[in-house]
Amino acid sequence: MAANSRCSAAEPAPGLESQRREVECLLRDCELRAGDSWFMVEHRWYTQWKEFVESGDQNSSCPGQIDNGELFEDVVSYHLKDRLVENEDFVLVPAEAWHKLLSWYGLVDQQPPLERKVVDLPSTLKVEVYPVEIFLCLHGNMENVTTAQFSRTDSIQSIQSAICGTFSLPSTCECRLWMKSSDNNCERLRNVHMSVLDACLSSGMTVIMETRNADGTWPSSRPLILRNSVEEQDSYRGQPGVCGLTNLGNTCFMNSALQCLSNTPPLTEYFLQSSYLEELNFSNPLGMKGEIAEAYADVIKQMWSGHHYSVVPRVFKTKVGHFASQFLGYQQHDSQELLSFLLDGLHEDLNRVKNKEYIELRDAEGRPDQEVAEEAWRNHRRRNDSVIVDTFHGLFKSTLICPQCRKVSVTFDPFCYLSIPLPVSKERVMEVFFISLEPYAKPMQHRVVVPKAGKVSDLCLALSEMTNVPDTQMVVADVFKHRFYKIYTPDESLNCILDRDDIFVYECSVQSDQQVLLALYLRERSHYRDYGSVNTTLFGHPLLLSVPRSSCSEEALYQIFLQRLARYVRVPNPSEELEEDDDEEELYKSQTNGISDDDEQEDVARLGPSQSVVCCADGPANDHHQDHAAPSEVQMRPPPPVEGDVHNVCAAKPLSSSDAGPSDGHINARGEESRADVDEENEEAAAAQNDTATEEDCKREEACSPSLPADEQAAKTRACRRKKRLFNIQAVNCNGTEREMGPDVTFNSAQPYVALDWDAETKKRFYNENEAEKYVKHSSMDIPQQQTTVQLQECIQLFTTVETLEEENPWYCPMCKKHQLATKKLDLWSLPEVLIIHLKRFSYTKFTREKLDTIVDFPLRNLDFSGCLLKKKLSNGEPPSRYDLIAVSNHYGGLRDGHYTSYARNKDNGQWYYFDDSKVTYATEEQIMTNAAYVLFYHRQDKMRKPSLSAPSTSSAASTPTSASSTSSPRPSEADAGAASVTPPCADAASAFAELTMETD
Ligand SMILES: [Zn+2]
Repeated sequence: MAANSRCSAAEPAPGLESQRREVECLLRDCELRAGDSWFMVEHRWYTQWKEFVESGDQNSSCPGQIDNGELFEDVVSYHLKDRLVENEDFVLVPAEAWHKLLSWYGLVDQQPPLERKVVDLPSTLKVEVYPVEIFLCLHGNMENVTTAQFSRTDSIQSIQSAICGTFSLPSTCECRLWMKSSDNNCERLRNVHMSVLDACLSSGMTVIMETRNADGTWPSSRPLILRNSVEEQDSYRGQPGVCGLTNLGNTCFMNSALQCLSNTPPLTEYFLQSSYLEELNFSNPLGMKGEIAEAYADVIKQMWSGHHYSVVPRVFKTKVGHFASQFLGYQQHDSQELLSFLLDGLHEDLNRVKNKEYIELRDAEGRPDQEVAEEAWRNHRRRNDSVIVDTFHGLFKSTLICPQCRKVSVTFDPFCYLSIPLPVSKERVMEVFFISLEPYAKPMQHRVVVPKAGKVSDLCLALSEMTNVPDTQMVVADVFKHRFYKIYTPDESLNCILDRDDIFVYECSVQSDQQVLLALYLRERSHYRDYGSVNTTLFGHPLLLSVPRSSCSEEALYQIFLQRLARYVRVPNPSEELEEDDDEEELYKSQTNGISDDDEQEDVARLGPSQSVVCCADGPANDHHQDHAAPSEVQMRPPPPVEGDVHNVCAAKPLSSSDAGPSDGHINARGEESRADVDEENEEAAAAQNDTATEEDCKREEACSPSLPADEQAAKTRACRRKKRLFNIQAVNCNGTEREMGPDVTFNSAQPYVALDWDAETKKRFYNENEAEKYVKHSSMDIPQQQTTVQLQECIQLFTTVETLEEENPWYCPMCKKHQLATKKLDLWSLPEVLIIHLKRFSYTKFTREKLDTIVDFPLRNLDFSGCLLKKKLSNGEPPSRYDLIAVSNHYGGLRDGHYTSYARNKDNGQWYYFDDSKVTYATEEQIMTNAAYVLFYHRQDKMRKPSLSAPSTSSAASTPTSASSTSSPRPSEADAGAASVTPPCADAASAFAELTMETD
């Protein structure tokens, strides 16, 4: 038959009518189902076939073999032509219909069948006529490119498998995929479970695969570090894990935390075995889309490759900063805060729970602990399941009791680390300067012990015991920038005083109604002749002194002040005319003491007894310091730094008002805004009226000193005309600027302030700056401050001690239906495999912030919790509760600066090392316990494995990492900034991907 010979089908076709019915039926009943196969048939052939079967004429127009020739670009590649249109160029038939047609008519030789999958695209099901055609290559050889087609629903994993297959790589190799678009942008394909469609891969793009180097780095981002150095060579082989971390500028807190985690065996093994790859959680909104876990894995793989002395954790730092902006900059941070963030970030990135269900928490309501604890743990695990939970999470019991209705609320809460308090000393050591009433005595620095919760009067009492000056004759003041920042009353709390404040304690004569306490400032007036204005600048140390109310004439005050300043202010002799520019040498030769002027001596005689005793001492003022010299004479400025505190006390001051919290007791000065800034404006305003001419002085004095007898006033006026004083007296406010009420020295205000205004020339000649700054140290300064030691177990007991909630943090009692200051008790229920103990060295209260230097005596072995663990196993005894130390994060220095390092024990050889940024040295067990210990890592003994290697011989220099000197005790390096300067430039992405623009990873 002609028809049969033309239609060389595999099996005889049924009658035309049944052909038509069978195919029509299949087409009508078939729905698109994702994953089903459909086939493309050329439209012309299909139409011809339809006419053929519908006409019923077997001999007229048989379509012959299925021929899709028109759909292909050429018959070599059989590439589909672009932009073919359904029902114009081709029709789609379901697989079953295709197979029938194929069996009846066959396919033109060599043509591949055009099988296409139904894909589930967003909001629509579609036959994917054009699959995505992608170029594949390896990072190491980008010349060798092959092509492969993928459906949009294929996973990135299938591309990875295809590349491994094509280039004969083991499918288990650890690799990263990058997609390169036509504009040469490169982007990581991080989530291998993602579909081609979701990854936005489209035809014409290239997927490049790289495999991890033996040293843990990636070919595309291998930092070009220390390449020029002899040390860092590819041939280097060291003990895995014994690897420094380069400081990137104040990143020692991060390095310290990383070293502790790196030496936590279960976590590091999890990453080294690449178990994390299967558990990366890209969709967790609480996580970092797997990026923190990946970046962390990269650091760990490099550190444990044994190929590096030191690793640059730059990508890791960037990722951390990206997700937690508080770590973004290069300021100093807390290693414990970073640990907390990191454990949380790793947990969410690796959380095996993809969809967290909502679980309502139930109170114990009297049920047994065991039941409630198990329920709490079960609920926790239903939402949180990761290597972090497996390793670090424990459970504690928290019991709250309402003080009013006695309602008891018990909850069990998971923890990732224990923050345990250190016993806070009830005493405090303060360093103060004591200013004797005796004008020739230099200020003396004392170290006194006072009750921490004490008052200013307690400070005076303590100082009284050292000085034999009655405490009632002391006034305590905070001196800042040559003025009184605050003058304290005896009732004020010592909490108001920070350790870095410059505290001066002034001896004053017995206070009475007849006496007034004057605050005295020294100012230098500088004339700006061009502008006709006068500026004043405070200098020297302010003074407090009692003066008799009766003798507050300006002249009397002048004499009292002169005597008070006698140690460093030389009194001009009668022949010296202050207005004249006498030769200074001659002046010093001819100088004598005392005040020879009759009028002035009269004034002196009017002074109270306590003032006159010090009047007009013998010899030139400059000689006096010899008589009063104490053992160690030193310059007063700058004051010596307090031990352990590297700040300049004075320079740090402006921060204190904001640091100290809302009510630090410095209300006075802060009420007048920033005390550093106010004076400039005020001084300028005041300056105009401050240009005191001699005559004016005298008139002013007359006006304000009604107590002065008339004849004396006349004498004074004469003196004024004849002789200028060393300084003028000016009533000021506490800032040392003029008071609005004018120059009156009125003592109505509670605390009068006066300034002694000097002109520059007179100050130069008569004010001995060198002498003024001198002070001596009391023997109490030589006694080293004692260091207290507590047992770790005591701190843990403190953690579980009943406490009453504070006002700021009350508990809502469900019975009373209001907030109550309940009592709270924490107990340990169950402990994790690796227990992190954070020692709360940084103590922040409403008034104080301090770092506790207490030595905590913590055991390296056999830390036993059996005594304080509530959970008891019913069948086989107590749960394992003995721990050995595996790592310590150290903090050296004070509150706002300092240096972090760590001690850690290598899991493979059991040796302890000291990690100080890029430096690693051997450590002995004896070195580990110091007052710098800040975060402790303990591993439960039942989970510990014996080291697989023997400990290295620490005396042998051959296996020594870097400059290992096992005998010298490690010391903190001075500052991070110093270490940062050696950071080599790294050019991560620039290396092998030269022709591509890499996403900066
Ligand atoms: Zn209650």
